[in-house]
Amino acid sequence: MSINYKVCPKCGSKRNLKIIYGEPTIDLFEESEKGNVRLGGCCVPIPTPEYYCCECEYEWNKEEIIDNESFKLEKRIY
Ligand SMILES: [Zn+2]
Repeated sequence: MSINYKVCPKCGSKRNLKIIYGEPTIDLFEESEKGNVRLGGCCVPIPTPEYYCCECEYEWNKEEIIDNESFKLEKRIY
């Protein structure tokens, strides 16, 4: 089973950005200006979101997608 981590679990949008943490380099800063990445800042939250949705501003990570998928599977079984 392949899971697409890059689809917003909330609205299903594929328009999203990878969130990058830490002190941004000039290159990274330019990428974020162009809308290619999202800068998460120096403080890394726990749990750490990895993707940001451009449509609904929801942030999520792979674990959340896996949880969602296994939840769906459980519902199918019962
Ligand atoms: Zn979304």
